[in-house]
Order: sequence, then C-alpha cells, then structure tokens
Amino acid sequence: MPAEMNAPLLPPQAADASPDPALERDRRYMRAALDEARLAEAAGEVPVGAVVVWNDTIIARGHNLPIRSVDPSAHAEMQALRAAAQVIGNYRMPECELYVTLEPCVMCSGAILHARIRHVVFGATDPKTGAAGSVLNLFEQAQLNHQTTIAGGVLADDCSRMLKDFFGGRRRAQKAAQKAAQAAACAASGGDVRPVAPGCAHCSPEVTTRSTESDPSQNPEA
Ligand SMILES: [Zn+2]
Repeated sequence: MPAEMNAPLLPPQAADASPDPALERDRRYMRAALDEARLAEAAGEVPVGAVVVWNDTIIARGHNLPIRSVDPSAHAEMQALRAAAQVIGNYRMPECELYVTLEPCVMCSGAILHARIRHVVFGATDPKTGAAGSVLNLFEQAQLNHQTTIAGGVLADDCSRMLKDFFGGRRRAQKAAQKAAQAAACAASGGDVRPVAPGCAHCSPEVTTRSTESDPSQNPEA
C-alpha cells in the first residue's frame, strides 16, 4: 500500500517541522518523472514518465511511447532503462534507482530486475496491470536471483490525477466524435438515422417523436 497515501495527518505543532529529506528527495525525482509523463501526453500517449538516478543525478529519462513507436515494449521504464544502460555502459545497473509515475507492469518489473536496479519508487498504483503489489508482486519473490527494493505512493495524487484527466479527456473526445458522426449521418439521411444526435437539426424532438412512434424498434424505451 502506498506509504504516502496512508501517512497520518501531521499535528498542528508539527506543520512547520523540517520535511523528511528522503521524502523530499523522492518527490524531487518524481517531479522529473512527471515532466516526462507530460511529454508522453503531448505526444498523445498515456502519460507515464520515468527517470533513472545514479549517484544522486538523473542520468536518463523516458516516457511512454508505444503508439508512436509502434512498439509494445516502449513503456516509460523501458525507455529510461535503455537510455541509462547506454550512459552507464552496462546493461546491469546495481547502483541505480528508477522513479516512475505509475506502478510498473510485469514487463517493466522484469526488465528492472534483469537490470539489477537497486531501488524503485513509483507514484500511482495500477490496479489492472501493476506488478508491484496491485495484481501481483514480482519484487517480493525471494526465489529470484536479484532483489530490488520498491516503494510506492510518492506524489501519488499528482500522478493519478494526470492519468485520470487524460482518460477523462479522451472519453469526452470520443463521445464528441461519436455525436458528430451521428449528426453527419443523420443530416445525410434526412433525419431517418438513429440514435438521436443531440444538436442535429434533423434530430429535433418533433422528428424524433414521430419516428419512434412509427417504429417502436428504434425507441430505446420500448
Ligand atoms: Zn510497463
């Protein structure tokens, strides 16, 4: 369960206390991962971003790009791992940490373990494909030859909101396109096409009522 989501509220007297340096560090790198997620969104991809940190420095960045690159493996973590391996000059990176805005899937978790990444921090949980505790947890398999520690919930609200806004916007765009297509089809047919397209002159209430009365099969209430 994400640590930050379950963090108890600070008592009033502790509000001015110095922030936890480790948490502040995690948030700083997660904000860099969120910047990468915005690049994915700008490219029309699901907004997920990742960075790889070595010696307290970001050495590689990556964002989701499977649609544009026509590559099902082009997840943010994979992009960042590939770039980091080039910087390090080795496909094994036991001194590196990876920050990613969304819980890694099975593929990315496998690559992280193969790369021998030391530690992973993710933002939002993924209840459908998350392989760090949501659907299954590859990081707690003691039989595996490498153990990567993992923590979740850093800037979880920001990471999650970006995804929800993206999918909400996409659903609205799909509905608008559907309505426009219905309106166009209705206009082309002179008003005989159903279902009703709101805003279409041919789908006025008068036309709709007359049509559904004459043909009950086209009335969703029938
Ligand atoms: Zn993945």
